[in-house]
Amino acid sequence: MAKKSKSSSVSSLPSLNPFYYIPLDNEDYQLTLDVLNNNTDPLIKKRSTWFYPAITFINFSRSGILKISTSKEKEKYVISIKLEKNKIGLHCSCKNKDYHICTHVYGTFDRLLSYGNRNFLNQFTPKGIYETAIKHKKYFQIKNSHYGLEIINKLSGCVYNSSLSKGFEGINNILNLRCDNQGTEDRTKTVTYLIIQPNRFQKLPILLPCEGKLNKEGTNVIGFDNFPIKEDHDYSITLTENQKALNKICFIIRELSKDITGELFEFGEERKYVELLDNIYTHWKTAVSLLESERFLYKYWGYRYSNRKQKAIKKNARPVKISSDSPQIHFQLSDKGDYQQLVPKLVVRNKILNSYISFGVFFIHHFESETVYMLPSIRDIAACEFIRNYENKVNVFKEHRNMFKQTFLDPLKKCYQVISK
Ligand SMILES: [Zn+2]
Repeated sequence: MAKKSKSSSVSSLPSLNPFYYIPLDNEDYQLTLDVLNNNTDPLIKKRSTWFYPAITFINFSRSGILKISTSKEKEKYVISIKLEKNKIGLHCSCKNKDYHICTHVYGTFDRLLSYGNRNFLNQFTPKGIYETAIKHKKYFQIKNSHYGLEIINKLSGCVYNSSLSKGFEGINNILNLRCDNQGTEDRTKTVTYLIIQPNRFQKLPILLPCEGKLNKEGTNVIGFDNFPIKEDHDYSITLTENQKALNKICFIIRELSKDITGELFEFGEERKYVELLDNIYTHWKTAVSLLESERFLYKYWGYRYSNRKQKAIKKNARPVKISSDSPQIHFQLSDKGDYQQLVPKLVVRNKILNSYISFGVFFIHHFESETVYMLPSIRDIAACEFIRNYENKVNVFKEHRNMFKQTFLDPLKKCYQVISK
């Protein structure tokens, strides 16, 4: 399309403006094959002899002119490129007067844009990677490559630069996507949950929400506020649906557990007590399934019902995870020569839990995984409590074996598996 008449006017002012400009019609600084093709004479494209040339970077001047050489066998030309936001100036040293875009320019860009480094020109945009690499040389290696120039980033990760800026704007689309877990606008605070064991086993455990102060990164709780004493407590952060449901259960559990003992087996047969216990247990079950998705859960000692303005103390709170997996109980009876030994065993997902303690009547705390599990039934809880009162290990000498069998082992075997070793 660019014919002789036009090019003669260009060549008549070679020193003032040697460039032939083509407009860039899409993104800033972005020369595409379409733009190149639309601005190149069909004859040049058809009769192109400059197919797949070797391209070498020469220099990039302060005035923004990029010089590259393009060569095939013994022929070599210098192409000067002036890259501007919405146009690109091109000049070839072949002194061709017939076409604005000569076969060398066409062949060179055809190679770069079709096969080579498509971002070749992008590297030279203002604040682009070339500018950055020259300014911070120790972090980059700049070398000639088959595609003119290769800028190797020696930092791990990408280097943000102007040619990437458009891509980074894509974050806005992502941030507009739906997200349900934005519970807290105030990022210095969060809701935490504390499983509280009041006075060892004399009372049932309770679960309380408590606002926690977060560290800068939001990864850890560095302190707690007062325990909320009313169900309609005014939180300084927005609660998620999960937290709203949990908080309701917290207060139900607290109200139900207030005047009830945590020593289960003593009351084993009192119907009223057992019904209440069942009710509390069911609420805890629901709480555990909701707690699984909460980030900050703690095991806590030292809560007193009487103290209305109590603040949770950081050192009394131990971070734990909770799992709705249920540990299964069986007993193991080992022959130790002179005596037999009976121990309870807890199994989660086919693995025996080795180091754990019971806490908060319903729970066990597995140390290795810092995970809290809820025992699967009131009977299991009471059975664990019973055997715990005998130090979790019963040693029986031969002369007492029969009596032990009658009073304990046989009844136990009706409900639990006893494995002899
Ligand atoms: Zn040329």
